[in-house]
Amino acid sequence: MSSPVNAREASFETAAAWLRQAKRVVAFTGAGISQESGIPTFRDDAGLWREFPPDRFARVGSLVKLAATEPDEVARFLLAVLDPIAAASPNPGHRALAAFASHVRTEVITQNIDGLHQDAGSHPVHQIHGSLLEVAGAGGELVRTLTRADLARIVKGLRKSLTRRFRLGHVLSAVHPLLGFGSGFVQRPRVVLFGDAMAEPDWSRAQAAARACDVMLVVGTSGEVWPASQLPTDAAARGARLIAVNPDEVEADVWLRGRSGEVLPELLALTWT
Ligand code: NAD
Repeated sequence: MSSPVNAREASFETAAAWLRQAKRVVAFTGAGISQESGIPTFRDDAGLWREFPPDRFARVGSLVKLAATEPDEVARFLLAVLDPIAAASPNPGHRALAAFASHVRTEVITQNIDGLHQDAGSHPVHQIHGSLLEVAGAGGELVRTLTRADLARIVKGLRKSLTRRFRLGHVLSAVHPLLGFGSGFVQRPRVVLFGDAMAEPDWSRAQAAARACDVMLVVGTSGEVWPASQLPTDAAARGARLIAVNPDEVEADVWLRGRSGEVLPELLALTWT
């Protein structure tokens, strides 16, 4: 019987061999890759949805209704989402994936809305659930992009609003660059919330990339969010090898157990040096 150490080495060797032979690689990432940048995942023990249930907080309509009666709750939810992303920078996992592109054609498909793959230098990045750094108008069109410094200013305003009387006005004014309501005027973060359609053209491009790749790295995703979770299934159906990178076991051809900030740099070094 092989020891766990040998089994781990064998898994890395297999993954490295597939990557060396590949013509097109897709990295399909989820919240787990940004966990080491200080952004909590949604389903882990400290996950956001435990404190803020999605039926109340993950739809723009219910969030607006809630703001009128419980502005503090809405401010606390927005702080929990915005603060870590405002303060984040790419970790070694994001940077390793960006470095893959020097060796093999690599496209990133991400469920994340934090912009960290772009900051690490990956291109193209298909953001199938949109981006918190983009603001959409009433018709879904891009009206503005925000920087992390803009997000940090919103966070500061929200914190201040919690110390004020007549909170609603202060909360609305703090979030105005990102989320605005008024007669004939609406703007909101260009992110896919429950019940929204997937972000286009990114979703169509992601589906095409998944169908065309030889190897898909499935990094830091629980695979519970549909239709995103369909992409590895589609890739495998077309013959791609699936390599999972996750501390928890994930169904794949090979599972590289561990945190992506450690596993991906190790895999990069093993594959191309
Ligand atoms: P998820 O929260 O359902 O699952 C996270 C997965 O990451 C789990 O499988 C967990 O075992 C794994 N993980 C935890 N730490 C890790 C690490 N250090 N390295 C590698 N893997 C690690 O996440 P999901 O599958 O992406 O689905 C959640 C949805 O919420 C997505 O649609 C995403 O848009 C959104 N979300 C985005 C962010 C972000 O932008 N950073 C953060 C939270 C949630």
